[in-house]
Amino acid sequence: MRRNMRRLHIETPLLEFRTMNNKVNGNAWLKMESIQPTGSFKIRGIGFSCQEYFARGAKKLISSSGGNAGIAVAYSGRKLGIPVIVVVPKTTTERAKELIKIENAEVIVKGNTWQEAHRYALNLSGNDAAYIHPFDDPLIWNGHSTLIDEVKQSGLKPDTIVLSVGGGGLLCGVLQGMEKNGWYDIPVVAVETHGADSFYRSVQTGRLVELNEITSIASSLGAKKVSQAALDWVKKHKILCHTVSDKEALEACIKFSADHRIIVEPACGASLSVLYSGIEFLQDKRSILVIVCGGAGVTIEQLHIWYNQAT
Ligand SMILES: *Cc1c(COP(=O)(O)O)cnc(C)c1O
Repeated sequence: MRRNMRRLHIETPLLEFRTMNNKVNGNAWLKMESIQPTGSFKIRGIGFSCQEYFARGAKKLISSSGGNAGIAVAYSGRKLGIPVIVVVPKTTTERAKELIKIENAEVIVKGNTWQEAHRYALNLSGNDAAYIHPFDDPLIWNGHSTLIDEVKQSGLKPDTIVLSVGGGGLLCGVLQGMEKNGWYDIPVVAVETHGADSFYRSVQTGRLVELNEITSIASSLGAKKVSQAALDWVKKHKILCHTVSDKEALEACIKFSADHRIIVEPACGASLSVLYSGIEFLQDKRSILVIVCGGAGVTIEQLHIWYNQAT
C-alpha cells in the first residue's frame, strides 16, 4: 500500500576524510548526502514532507524551486505516483529544467525572479495540491534529522558538525536530530558564501535580515532570508557562523573531485573548504563531521569556468 511506502531517501555512507590537503588536526568524517538519488540531502526532508501531505490526501505537489528542492519534489511525486508542477523563473538554466523533467514533472516558467515564480506556485496550491516549502516546514526538519540518527547508529559521536546554510532547513533538521539523540554539547559550524550570508547577518544583528540580492554563485545557498526557526536555534545551541568566498568554495569542490571522485555544488564546497583551509575553531577538535550536502546543478567544466572567473 502506498501509504506505508518506504522512505524516499537512502542511508548514506560515512567516510573518513584523509588527504594531503587536509588542514585539520583531528579526524574528519564525511556524511555523503551527495549520493542521494536526487543528488542532495534535500530528498530526506522533502521526501518525508511529500509522503506526509500525500497521506493527508494531497493529489498533486507544487514547488517553486529550480534547484535541488524542485528536483526532490519531482522525484517524490514520481515515486508516490502523483503529478508535480515546478514553477521556475526565467533565469533557471536549461539543465535544471531538464533534471526536473526527467522526473516527469511539469515545468512552468513564470516571472523574472524566484519571488514571482513562488507567488504563482502558491496560487496553484490549495485544496488537494500541496505546496512543498524548500526549507521552512517542521516536516522538512523531521526528515533531515534522520541524517543524524544514521551517524549516531554508526557509532560515531563527533565533537563538531560542519554544514552549509541556505534557508536553514538543513541546519534546523541537523539540530533537531542532535537534540533527539542527546547531542546537546556538540557545536555546529554554519557555513555560507559571501553574498549569500543571510544567516550570518541575522545572527550578527539578532533579527532576520533580508539580503537585497544574492551575489554568490552558490545559488543553492541563495535564500535572501533564513527561517525564523533557524535564527531561534542560536539561543538554544552553540552555533558558529563562518563565511567563505566563492573562490574558496570552488577550490574545495575541485580538490574534492580529485580526492573523492565526486562532483558537488559550491554550496557544498563552502563546507568542505573548512577542511581544506582549516579554520581556527577546528584546530583543537579531534573528530569533525562534515555534511556533504551535494547538489545536482553543476558539472566539472562549470566548476572550472566559475573558478577561473572568481576573484
Ligand atoms: C538546499 C541546499 C543547501 C542549503 O540548505 P538549506 O536547507 O536551504 O539551508 C545547501 N546545499 C545544497 C546542495 C542544497 O541543495
